[in-house]
Amino acid sequence: MEQIRSTPQHPDRRPTSTEGPRIVVIGAGPTGLAAGYRLRELGYTNFRLLEASGKVGGLASSETSPNGFTYDIGGHVLFSHYEYFDRLFDRLMGDEYQELVREAWVWMCERFVPYPLQNNIRTLPREVVLECVLGLIEAQREPLDLARIENFEQLIMKQFGSGLAKYFMMPYNFKVWAHPPRMMNKEWIGERVALPSLERVLGNVILDRDDAGWGPNNTFKYPRYGGTGGLFARMQPYVQDQLRLNATTVAVDTRRKEVLLADGTREPYDLLLSTMPVDKLVAMLEGPTPDVVREQAGRLRHSGSYVVGIGVDRPVETSKCWMYFPVDDCPFYRLTYLSNYSPEVVPDHTRQHSILAEISHSELKPEDRETVVDRTIEGLINTRILRESDRALIVDRYLIERDYTYPTPSIERDGALAVLHPWLETQDIYSRGRFGAWRYEVGNMDHSVAQGVEWVNRIVQDDLANELTYQAKRGC
Ligand SMILES: Cc1cc2nc3c(=O)[nH]c(=O)nc-3n(C[C@H](O)[C@H](O)[C@H](O)COP(=O)(O)OP(=O)(O)OC[C@H]3O[C@@H](n4cnc5c(N)ncnc54)[C@H](O)[C@@H]3O)c2cc1C
Repeated sequence: MEQIRSTPQHPDRRPTSTEGPRIVVIGAGPTGLAAGYRLRELGYTNFRLLEASGKVGGLASSETSPNGFTYDIGGHVLFSHYEYFDRLFDRLMGDEYQELVREAWVWMCERFVPYPLQNNIRTLPREVVLECVLGLIEAQREPLDLARIENFEQLIMKQFGSGLAKYFMMPYNFKVWAHPPRMMNKEWIGERVALPSLERVLGNVILDRDDAGWGPNNTFKYPRYGGTGGLFARMQPYVQDQLRLNATTVAVDTRRKEVLLADGTREPYDLLLSTMPVDKLVAMLEGPTPDVVREQAGRLRHSGSYVVGIGVDRPVETSKCWMYFPVDDCPFYRLTYLSNYSPEVVPDHTRQHSILAEISHSELKPEDRETVVDRTIEGLINTRILRESDRALIVDRYLIERDYTYPTPSIERDGALAVLHPWLETQDIYSRGRFGAWRYEVGNMDHSVAQGVEWVNRIVQDDLANELTYQAKRGC
């Protein structure tokens, strides 16, 4: 994108004091960008936005390979729970976006089943259907007593039953989270997991009915240009005057209230909004920090990802959007036909298509970086996404790696956050966003934007009740 040198007049700009406390924001991902955008919208300029990398967008940015294929950092599906986000999207994108109908599938038993699996098991082999239905009946014999459920695995067994657990929920969730479900809490689920209704599952099996309409993201938008990152790149002009790229925070001096940067410069703050991973933030605090804060930060768990982009020199043969893979003959848990989202992510969509594969890793699920691209290609052939003859048509292989991609909703998480966030706030440090708040359930792009905006509303407008997203209190 062309470098923009001056901040455009904000369309909704309202006059307020330009003084007020000096705010420093660490990170120009969706949360930090949205905070900056909102500050400018309110006419507030006494802030600095520090970004370690050379561009904005964070995990919601995109990369273009030397061969001209654009890839996101994992499949990003944009859907919104907020009017503010909708207006922002419209303002930034105009009509330069695609509107898509979700076509999500699960690959298992050597076939594709529409998502969510539990509502569509009728297409599986009869003995598997029977095992899933009997397991579900057994599991749901007694009403669910959430108070007695201690972890995600127990919830799976009580709600999905042993059949669905065996074929999908247990292997798939381990592949995504790189943590076994017994290490995860049950609080994050909300609208992220479709809980099965016995009546619906049975009805679909007996009436041979397709049922793929679950969930909030059955239609979604995607930028026509620049991948997912095309959206956030368009926020940059609004914060350009306050933005410092290639500005990595290496320490925060809580006594002097200064952020120390890798180039040796310092940024003083009255209030600090940090969107970097909160465990890393705590590790770089200089100043008196209670042991319990450091201990609790060390208890948070996360996973990282290898995202493999593959460009193929033949037109795509399907309208599928993304697919889940609980099976073990491929390393990825999800694939996206990215060129079905926008024709502009490949050099020539009339004769090419692109696939994005996501592979998680953690200390509990190590993945070999050196072989991950080759193993992905083998997996694409094993799962019949590509044919043997397609090997010769692969014209792009691109690896994106990030150590922090999923903040694990682990059993210890909420206890740790209950210590960390209140203490940080006593130091005038506010940790927000996907890894700042560390709450996966409010860690999507729209939530992250909302967290940035609501924090500003709280600080600048004294709107104390307004941080509902960060508190995960809004029904979202
Ligand atoms: C694999 C994957 C799939 C996803 N799918 C979806 C989806 O389908 N739909 C959806 O809505 N969302 C999705 N998301 C979530 C989306 O990417 C996040 O909501 C969003 O990027 C979070 O924004 P953030 O600003 O809180 O954090 P980030 O995007 O992580 O941004 C933080 C920024 O801080 C910077 N930073 C870190 N450390 C420092 C430092 N020391 N100094 C200075 N800067 C620093 C980073 O470089 C980064 O730019 C997905 C994420 C991943 C990883």
